[in-house]
Amino acid sequence: MSIADNVLQVKKNIEAAALACGRNPGDIILVGATKMNDAARVREAIAAGLEYCGENRVQELVEKNGQGAYEGSHLHFIGHLQKNKVKFLVGTVELIHSVHSVELAAEINKRAAALGIVQDILLEVNIGGEEAKSGFAPEELKNALKEIAHMSSIRVCGLMAIPPVCSNSEENRHYFSQMRQLYIDIEKDKKYNNVIMGILSMGMSADYEVAISEGANMVRVGTGIFGARDYGAAAGNADAR
Ligand SMILES: *Cc1c(COP(=O)(O)O)cnc(C)c1O
Repeated sequence: MSIADNVLQVKKNIEAAALACGRNPGDIILVGATKMNDAARVREAIAAGLEYCGENRVQELVEKNGQGAYEGSHLHFIGHLQKNKVKFLVGTVELIHSVHSVELAAEINKRAAALGIVQDILLEVNIGGEEAKSGFAPEELKNALKEIAHMSSIRVCGLMAIPPVCSNSEENRHYFSQMRQLYIDIEKDKKYNNVIMGILSMGMSADYEVAISEGANMVRVGTGIFGARDYGAAAGNADAR
């Protein structure tokens, strides 16, 4: 299967998953997780109809952006973000999915203010409570929102999660369902400034259909579009996932 075939297939699967639970397929955005795929491969996916690209590592994003890899698509950042790399993203990417601390939000706010823009972000939730993963604990979210509400150069557009690696697509259903509940609770709780819940980013190649059935409206698919990543060939890239 070519990249182009895969893009069409994933879109079909998304459509079927949406219709199966009575949702409008047009409400679900496919973000191609482009990490470790070079500019030519990314362009191939865009030419086949991929409208959103999500990059994982800042250095790789800057490099490929310089090569025009993402032309014609929306560019998101989905990977782990360190404060000292924020300056490379603000104003360059449309949406940062992976804001995992108030300090990181403050840094993004500062950079966005300096550019005179408002940067859209999602708050990452460590829904599986995994030691090795970043993200807010569900019970920390409301306090974080209270603090972030004072930061007028960022806008919180929703939530994102990377549940535990699963071997069976149903395994993470309860996490997706908990995410949906958090999302709805915050949406109802209209007291925060700069918070307009609209995006629930969850589901990857192994489980995006289940995520859609639990309310995801943005799914991030890498392997399903580009095939398996060759971690062996990319020495030093072992943390790219
Ligand atoms: C790599 C990646 C994905 C996609 O993973 P696949 O299993 O290849 O679909 C999604 N989200 C994030 C944050 C990623 O880093």
